[in-house]
Amino acid sequence: MKKNIYLLFCIVFLVLSSCSPKSVPTTTENTQGLTNEYITSHETTDISTEQLETSFEFDESVCDTAWETPPETVIEITDNIELPFQTEELFTEAQTEQEVTKIPEYAGSIALTFDDGPGIYTERLLDILKEYGGKATFFVVGNRASYQKDILKRMSEEGHEVGNHTYSHLSLKELEHQEIIDQISIAKNIIENATGKENKLVRAPYGDLNSNIKEIGRELNVSFIHWSFDTLDWLTRDPQLIYHEIICRVTDGDIILLHDIHESTLDAMEMAIPYLINSGYKLVTVSELLTEKTDYIYPGAVYSKK
Ligand code: ZN
Repeated sequence: MKKNIYLLFCIVFLVLSSCSPKSVPTTTENTQGLTNEYITSHETTDISTEQLETSFEFDESVCDTAWETPPETVIEITDNIELPFQTEELFTEAQTEQEVTKIPEYAGSIALTFDDGPGIYTERLLDILKEYGGKATFFVVGNRASYQKDILKRMSEEGHEVGNHTYSHLSLKELEHQEIIDQISIAKNIIENATGKENKLVRAPYGDLNSNIKEIGRELNVSFIHWSFDTLDWLTRDPQLIYHEIICRVTDGDIILLHDIHESTLDAMEMAIPYLINSGYKLVTVSELLTEKTDYIYPGAVYSKK
């Protein structure tokens, strides 16, 4: 069945002949929304796996022009610059060829979020982010993070946010009350020991939440972070498709779901991160984004762009 869905997905994609960044998606509006407002209510209805799966359909209308390559930062070499206070003797050749770098106009703030790591590609991702000056949020799985504390420490020291993706990535909706507490709090302790910072953000595996889980989150002083769109990187494993999903759909305030355990995602990030930065997007952590877009981050609340 999954294979059939994937084949259908590929066929739909092949039918597409073009792509245009920033055009508006339509088929996912109901589940993901397009306004720049955030859900912060404890009354938010439960998000089921079934509801999320409806957003996994490929949206044909997202892009309608050809593949785009990342825009290069424009460097202009200007000759014959007049420097009125410069004497003839001091006017060197180097000074006549000043590089003028065009800083792109601010397009918005977005949070790239990477789930399920740390993995063998995570440090490569940290290198890419360091090269281009972007920040990200890593929702790590506790039983993987427990033996990779140096990577968590590096994430934190380089300005990224380390979030909690529970200890063993089970659907919290399937667990007993105490098991839910353990899944969140054990991973929380691992993160806090490695980074020296309080862990306040949780991403529930599969997005599975209900009122009981949110109440536990409130008691543990953590908030739940959903996503505004899924790049489907876990499904397609195709760098071009992942890159395409991002550059065609991204808008201000997005929280974008990715996974740093797949090499194809890293290959996509090699293209997407410079593209986003050269397009004027500021890559921030989830906490930075919520601070910018909301008044206060409430424990137990679910945050997503709606
Ligand atoms: Zn996950």
